Amino acid sequence: MRLDKFICKSTELTRTEAKKLLKSGEVRVNGEVAKNAAMQVHENNTVTIDGQVLSARGSRYYILHKVADTICSNVDEVYPSVLHAIEVDKAFDLHIAGRLDADTTGLVLVTDDGRWSHNVISPKKHCQKTYRVWLRSDIDDDNLAALVARFDSGLQLQGEDDLTRPAILTRVAQADLVDETAYRSEVLLTITEGKYHQVKRMFAAVGNRVIGLHREQIGEIVLGDLAPGEWRELTEDEIAQFT
Ligand code: URA
Repeated sequence: MRLDKFICKSTELTRTEAKKLLKSGEVRVNGEVAKNAAMQVHENNTVTIDGQVLSARGSRYYILHKVADTICSNVDEVYPSVLHAIEVDKAFDLHIAGRLDADTTGLVLVTDDGRWSHNVISPKKHCQKTYRVWLRSDIDDDNLAALVARFDSGLQLQGEDDLTRPAILTRVAQADLVDETAYRSEVLLTITEGKYHQVKRMFAAVGNRVIGLHREQIGEIVLGDLAPGEWRELTEDEIAQFT
């Protein structure tokens, strides 16, 4: 890793501050003054600032309960980034492992470990994600089994060459039609891909419409009772699933 990056990772300094510090001659690598920000340092090097030994801070891993009208991006656009909710140093050095739409709520994983997030989102890894979905049209008893079979055998989404991978659909509840915006059925859907707007497009492909979407689980990591807008560090077991 570059020396300036190592300093940033091990302290609260920004990259610019780390470079300034390097120029001042206060940084030593294995006892020698080091001024070159691009110098490569390894685990067995001893880096000191003003005599204090730096130890590399490990990667960071969090789970967040995303609220609606926030976006899974490192920059604010029409809505603010979800990263504002994570109250840690340098939250904007983190990235999101598996984005949700602005109107989707629920489980978001946030890290600065690119290899780990690759394991979460790579299409080749087939990681399971479970969504609670509220639908505009009902799924009555007569249609349920056929619909479950269609999701299981794969759906043709508009603009895609391949069918979707097998997905598990479970009906949770039916609701009375209260008004035009109310949902008629609530389902759980588990998919192992992450195509653009995938869940919304899957229900569009069977003539229904998603009016509410909430992610509850990624792999074995569950949102549980984490309140909307809250976050916590992942446990070692949760992290280990994707390492
Ligand atoms: N599928 C969608 O359509 N939207 C999401 O936010 C996540 C999955």
